[in-house]
Amino acid sequence: MLIYDVTKEELIEFLVTNGHKKYRADQIWHWVYKQKISDFKEMNNMPNDLIELLAQNYKLNALELVLQHRSQDGTLKCLYSLHDGHLIESVLMKQHYGNSICVTTQVGCNIGCSFCASGQLKKKRDLTAGEIIAQIIETEKLLKERINYVVVMGIGEPFDNYENLMKFLTIINDPKGLSIGARHITVSTSGIVPKIKEYAHMGMQVNLAISLHAPNNEIRSKLMKINQAYPVEEVIDAIKYYLKVANRRVTIEYILIDEVNDMDEVAHELVKVLRGLNVYVNLIPYNEVLEAPYKRSKIEQQLRFYDILKKNRIQVTLRKEQGHDINAACGQLRSQHL
Ligand code: SAH
Ligand code: SF4
Repeated sequence: MLIYDVTKEELIEFLVTNGHKKYRADQIWHWVYKQKISDFKEMNNMPNDLIELLAQNYKLNALELVLQHRSQDGTLKCLYSLHDGHLIESVLMKQHYGNSICVTTQVGCNIGCSFCASGQLKKKRDLTAGEIIAQIIETEKLLKERINYVVVMGIGEPFDNYENLMKFLTIINDPKGLSIGARHITVSTSGIVPKIKEYAHMGMQVNLAISLHAPNNEIRSKLMKINQAYPVEEVIDAIKYYLKVANRRVTIEYILIDEVNDMDEVAHELVKVLRGLNVYVNLIPYNEVLEAPYKRSKIEQQLRFYDILKKNRIQVTLRKEQGHDINAACGQLRSQHL
């Protein structure tokens, strides 16, 4: 087991069971999450028997770097190998407000959206909380800078790995853990309705993003087969529920695909669906993927779509294209490598 998979409570229990003092837990967390050690021997204020006990029971190095790719704008894509050889991807983006990382939660994804590179690779397994945390720590070491924003938008459906996701969020948010502010964390889901409702009650100020991509079932079902289980009306109801319970603005992700979901009338329909909700729409020009039949929206149409939303007083941003495109970045490096 990775040391990053252990909650503070579990660590205390482990220490006490093995005849050590409780307060060692804080010291260990300091070494693990603040000093970011790669070897327990680096803990120079610990008794040797404790160092040995930890080394016998827990691992520190979860990921091996297979490939890294730096773009001119500072984006750093990392392909990591897990202990069992599975490949995952993390993408670091330099923003004007700080360093933001996009992390992977599963090896592959079973939701199988027709436009997505990750969805073309069936899920092999879930990542543990520690394996998700390790992506942040390893990437910080490569970058030699602190990462202060996290988006859970890499490979996988985070709400299909819910328990590990919650553990991950708790540990990275803990002031004695990675101490990443809840408001600096965003989780993106394809719209698993019961989990959106559960998430509404989780009590942390973490942001929620919903991949809507279409205002009606006809288009959405073509893009996302999950829409057959949780159609647009139910996703919208779940968003309303979340807005009421969590009282936090929701991000609507909307990829713009040429002549599939980017027409003027579709924009007007989206306005109707979202009117009155405390949401903001993030328009993302589609990144073309091998084996998927879709094309990116033409730039004029992207702007028209944006204008229609804007003129109808829907809060909206249009993401500028670059290596900056997190979503597209995530999953594509891996599928190319395979
Ligand atoms: N499974 C979750 C989170 C990972 S995908 C979800 O679907 O929300 C993160 C975002 O990237 C989603 O909004 C997804 O629709 C988008 N995405 C996937 N493939 C893309 C591509 N080729 N170009 C642009 N965005 C893409
Ligand atoms: Fe899975 Fe998200 Fe890709 Fe859909 S878009 S296949 S849910 S990773």
